[in-house]
Amino acid sequence: MAIYDIKQKNAASAQNLSMDAARLPGLQLLLRLQQTLNVEELIKVFTDFLGNEMELDGFTYQHEEEAIECQSNHLNRHVIAYTLSLEGENLGKIAFYRARPFEESELHRIEDMLGWLIYPLNNALRYRKVYRLAHSDPLTGLRNRSAMEVDIRREISLARRQKRFLSLIMIDIDHFKHINDTYGHACGDQVLRCVAECLKETFRDSDLCFRYGGEEFLILLPDADMEDARNSAERLRANIEAIHCKIDDSTHVKITVSAGVSSLTDTDDASRLIERADAALYEAKAGGRNQVKSSLMPLNASSHEANLIQ
Ligand code: GH3
Ligand code: MG
Ligand code: MG
Repeated sequence: MAIYDIKQKNAASAQNLSMDAARLPGLQLLLRLQQTLNVEELIKVFTDFLGNEMELDGFTYQHEEEAIECQSNHLNRHVIAYTLSLEGENLGKIAFYRARPFEESELHRIEDMLGWLIYPLNNALRYRKVYRLAHSDPLTGLRNRSAMEVDIRREISLARRQKRFLSLIMIDIDHFKHINDTYGHACGDQVLRCVAECLKETFRDSDLCFRYGGEEFLILLPDADMEDARNSAERLRANIEAIHCKIDDSTHVKITVSAGVSSLTDTDDASRLIERADAALYEAKAGGRNQVKSSLMPLNASSHEANLIQ
């Protein structure tokens, strides 16, 4: 596979906007590329545009650091691949496929067009990184509360539209203050990381795990009804109880969590769904901790009491 580097040399062509006829397609492409900050969409716009200019059967694009991998349905025997970078910044790898070999003039055309792509691509990748950092918790790597507020609304409207279940688990570490007081704050931080690891191992990739507050976590379970969610919460509770969280070679800390579970009803909005899980969690604490409680009925606006089972 031939690998070429597209660096500033080609990018320079995008800066020189003299309006000769040869540049017109490039400018048209640039206008389209400027309409999105979504990397996958950007690559699609670019490859569609190139596909109209020349015969292409498929493409792949990868950016390891941002965990992006996209490709067309069909690839083919002949491939031309480029490593994209701008001012030392890695912009990923793009490859084009087709049945017959690429001609020299076509390679020049592709490289010209890539020159138009790399500034918008750089912007989109930066935006994606900033968004990712703003929505993740630096201590545990989980999504943070801001991300949760966006995600829960999206999942609720998806569940409504597709008539699917959606459940929520809220957990809180038991007597966490005691861990901080006994072993120190750094050890407390390590315990939070252990719990986050256990969440990642316990739940499916399609479930969404968040650090909601200090030692509180939320898990959104698309497609899970109350029974599924209760079972998952119970499995998590048992997994956490079984952990010996390693602080250093001679110190291992054992912890437990309490959990509250709620399942989306017709009358829930995001805050109600959370409130009901929170009320169930409160019951789990009051019931002696290290246990799961679930909320059957939506909160009654006047009483603000959940109907709890078990
Ligand atoms: P309960 O079983 O009722 O939940 O008791 P608790 O001690 O876990 O609850 P409490 O709300 O009294 O204490 C929570 C503690 O979590 C207090 C706070 O200092 C600690 N905490 C919050 N965020 C962090 C953090 O990022 N790191 C560490 N180490 N501790 C934190
Ligand atoms: Mg708490
Ligand atoms: Mg606690």
